[in-house]
Amino acid sequence: MQLCNCAICDFKNKEMEKVSINKTINLSEHLASPSEAALSHSSELNGLRLTPHFSLGEVTKSKHEGIYNIPSHVAIENLKRVCAWLEALRLRYNLRYVSGSASPPELGGVRGGLNEGMPGASSDHPTHTGTPPNSGGEIDTEEPIIISSGYRSPELNKKVGGSPTSNHLTGCAVDIRVAGIEQAMRYAVILMDYADETKQDYDELLIERNKSGGYWLHFAVRPKDNRRKTMVMLL
Ligand SMILES: [Zn+2]
Repeated sequence: MQLCNCAICDFKNKEMEKVSINKTINLSEHLASPSEAALSHSSELNGLRLTPHFSLGEVTKSKHEGIYNIPSHVAIENLKRVCAWLEALRLRYNLRYVSGSASPPELGGVRGGLNEGMPGASSDHPTHTGTPPNSGGEIDTEEPIIISSGYRSPELNKKVGGSPTSNHLTGCAVDIRVAGIEQAMRYAVILMDYADETKQDYDELLIERNKSGGYWLHFAVRPKDNRRKTMVMLL
């Protein structure tokens, strides 16, 4: 594994040291409990921001705490690309459906244009669990975009039954939590409009439903060769 001096590689170094200690000496009773370890893991990664509202912790979390799931630099660049789309989704969804302001549904009313909230814009906002500072006064409360699954290491992908060619393996895909089919369709329409207006393509935009009737949105953007595969998949 190639490591440099960046914050992510520093974190990987520490993770590998922990694994090596665990393997050579049985110190399990002296180490933090799994839940404490997971808390520390997620809080460190949550501090590593990919875009103003999305952190590395959010796109690497999983309920399988024992499975190593730290992406490569290449995968992190892919995750940043996807999160840039999610910033646009977050902004437009809030302006259209959440904000009490009189912004018209058409995107002419989007404050600050298409690039607001994108990487390079102000990064003073806290993570999406909080309410960002509201300098403009137009949005009083904001709804977060909640990622239920992002990057998956080969081991994690296998564990959750993902496809061996899944875009999750390269950090190109995220699954987004939705309240139901209506919200999934609203998200999908915003992402399709954004693709048209900015003349960019995505690879997959799939509204998926499991056997229990739960919906989510699978969204993927690759560095190139995006296929713009758009489907509703009902299991
Ligand atoms: Zn997915």
